[in-house]
Amino acid sequence: MDQKFFHEGDLVGVQTAQPINRTLDYKAPEGGCHMGAFVEVPLGPRKVLGVVWGAGKGNFDIKKVRSIMRVLNVAPMTDEMRQFLIKAADYTLTPMNAMLRLATRAPGLGDAPSMRKVYRLGMDEPTRMTDARAKVLDFLRDYGGVAFTLKEIVDSAGVTTSVVKGLVKLGSVNEEKAPRDIPYPCLDPDHGGKKLTDDQAFGAKILIDAVRSGTYGTTLLKGVTGSGKTEVYLEAVAECLRHGRQALVLLPEIALTAEFLMRVEARFGCKPAEWHSGVSMTERRRCWRMVGQGDAQLIVGARSALFLPFCDLGLVVVDEEHDTSYKQEDGVLYNARDMTVLRASLNAAQVVLASATPSLESWANVEAGKYVRVTLASRYGAAVLPKMSAIDMRIEDLPGGRWVSPTLRKMVESRLEKGEQSLLFLNRRGYAPVTVCRACGHQIGCDDCDATMVEHRFLKRLMCHQCGETKPMLTVCPSCEAVDKLAPVGPGVERMAEEAQALFPDARVAVLSSDLYNSAQALKEHIQSIARGEADVIVGTQLVAKGHNFPKLTLVGVIDADLGLKGSDLRAAERTFQLMRQVAGRAGRADIAGEAVLQTFQPEHPVICAILGGDEEAFWSAEAAERRAAGVPPYGRMAGIVLSSFNMQDVFELGTKMARMDEPLRKIGAQVYGPAPAPIARIRGRHRVRLLVKAEKSAPLQQALLAWTAQFKFGGDLRMAIDIDPQNFY
Ligand code: ADP
Ligand code: ZN
Repeated sequence: MDQKFFHEGDLVGVQTAQPINRTLDYKAPEGGCHMGAFVEVPLGPRKVLGVVWGAGKGNFDIKKVRSIMRVLNVAPMTDEMRQFLIKAADYTLTPMNAMLRLATRAPGLGDAPSMRKVYRLGMDEPTRMTDARAKVLDFLRDYGGVAFTLKEIVDSAGVTTSVVKGLVKLGSVNEEKAPRDIPYPCLDPDHGGKKLTDDQAFGAKILIDAVRSGTYGTTLLKGVTGSGKTEVYLEAVAECLRHGRQALVLLPEIALTAEFLMRVEARFGCKPAEWHSGVSMTERRRCWRMVGQGDAQLIVGARSALFLPFCDLGLVVVDEEHDTSYKQEDGVLYNARDMTVLRASLNAAQVVLASATPSLESWANVEAGKYVRVTLASRYGAAVLPKMSAIDMRIEDLPGGRWVSPTLRKMVESRLEKGEQSLLFLNRRGYAPVTVCRACGHQIGCDDCDATMVEHRFLKRLMCHQCGETKPMLTVCPSCEAVDKLAPVGPGVERMAEEAQALFPDARVAVLSSDLYNSAQALKEHIQSIARGEADVIVGTQLVAKGHNFPKLTLVGVIDADLGLKGSDLRAAERTFQLMRQVAGRAGRADIAGEAVLQTFQPEHPVICAILGGDEEAFWSAEAAERRAAGVPPYGRMAGIVLSSFNMQDVFELGTKMARMDEPLRKIGAQVYGPAPAPIARIRGRHRVRLLVKAEKSAPLQQALLAWTAQFKFGGDLRMAIDIDPQNFY
């Protein structure tokens, strides 16, 4: 430990996660403390968690400065981690206390180690031997002196808990207490590697050499779905483990982790540490501590795993790097992909960005020579890319209120005959997006937002997709009071499922939509049952685009390929392109050829043509040229500013004033657009106004934003949120 040391009584600055955006002075405790130590300090009447951030400022009456209460028994924050938090805070314009909260999201870090009961072979033979008793003793003998939990013994020996408890009474088994936060089992980098194809081996070699270099670098690993990207980057993970450094794999969706953990176990002999919202609180704390002390080698997790206290991070893989869920949209507004690159550069670590459909940002970084690119051109084994075509909806004979064209219907029927699976893809949750009164034309809206209420038949409620507010389904129109005149308009997945069941009465129809499950576990199980073939027709939202492996799936029908092309989002074309290709990639992953069809009213739209033509490079070049000409990301920089208040006039006045007093922005050549009502002008009763700041790529945007916003007061209920590199324009 070569971190600076403070002796007892020295003045130190402590950063806490409390809403105070500066360090507070304390005296170092008895025995002193290191820079970076996690400590407990008094704050008013409370005890709070903090980190020793540097020397104290000393601008406070020394007699009144209180002492640090104690140093916690966890690994101190490394210099790299502190640098990372400082840089990430500067980039996203986030106060350090909020950054620190993100970095300490494990409960009970200050608590004494929690203990649990374990059992080990004792000295005495039982007075009477039974089959069940023998099983337990044999199991424990097999493992020599190792201690197990009751559950482990019961599961392995196939006996009830009372058998073990009985043996404890007889002295044949000893009961002991052991700390709950134990190291993760050791992964073996040479346990079960697959034999790679030439293409894969070539890619793996580049990643392995990069890891060996012990320096920072980023590689874009691009390959069609099923080309073996996972196999290839697991080789980089193996190399990282051989060097004794830690590896992190980020996945966009926790529903994907179950399948992935099994692959890790097959490859390295045991499971890695997990970090996401589905992990229990005790397990989270174990993970956080073990990562900090180097007793977890590989962590698989969601975006917030990037803020774990790694002691020697050597590699981060961002799988499905284009996925929008890497951008956190509330609290600290950060993009985990971009922050990964930042953290790796401070840790001399390698980054692998894996995707079948990279973001334009990453594509442009390769073009600019900042990232290396590795391409896997073909699918592994016999699997071939699906054949893709459009169904021109202008010439299909389809009655109103129906969405499966006769052409698509015939295709599904032919799969049913062969016992293969079909997927009907519609990126819209619920039953119907709009409920309208056939008597007066009134649309049911949310009371608090400018949005229509979406009917969810499964939940038997109307729901606002902005604020989550629900109301019971209505029979009386709230506007004209006509009875039984309310009708659903437009399709959601639940309604599609109804149509599919009517069209294919003998088929087993399954709906895959995130809101139909009350736990991550239930969702996981449903996905696994579909993968085993327990459904013939799958009706799904975006959830199915995220890399699940359905071996029997041979047909993908995209119900409304035009849906994503509408919005005013600068990434609409890119998103549609990625989504359509990902969904098409679901078909024919095993040894049967797949087919994908897109129902569209504009088959000649450039994005639709690019998807069908499969000419990705042409799509990226064209899209890049357009963005460059417009000076928008990734060729320019943007920041979104959302002002909100319960008072519409206040918020517009402030917005107008901000747009007028733009001197600090003009100094760096940046422009302000707006104020305009945000695309969703009201959320939870708060009126929202949006300003957009555009600057050149090299302009010091954050500094200018700070100087600009410092001119204004945000009193009362007026709030401001700054979103650097906004992904969504709401
Ligand atoms: P991607 O991550 O690009 O979608 P995967 O790594 O998941 O691709 O590979 C797709 C499937 O092919 C997986 O079931 C994987 O185990 C298998 N596979 C890929 N490469 C090999 C290989 N060299 N040997 C055996 N199986 C492979
Ligand atoms: Zn609402």
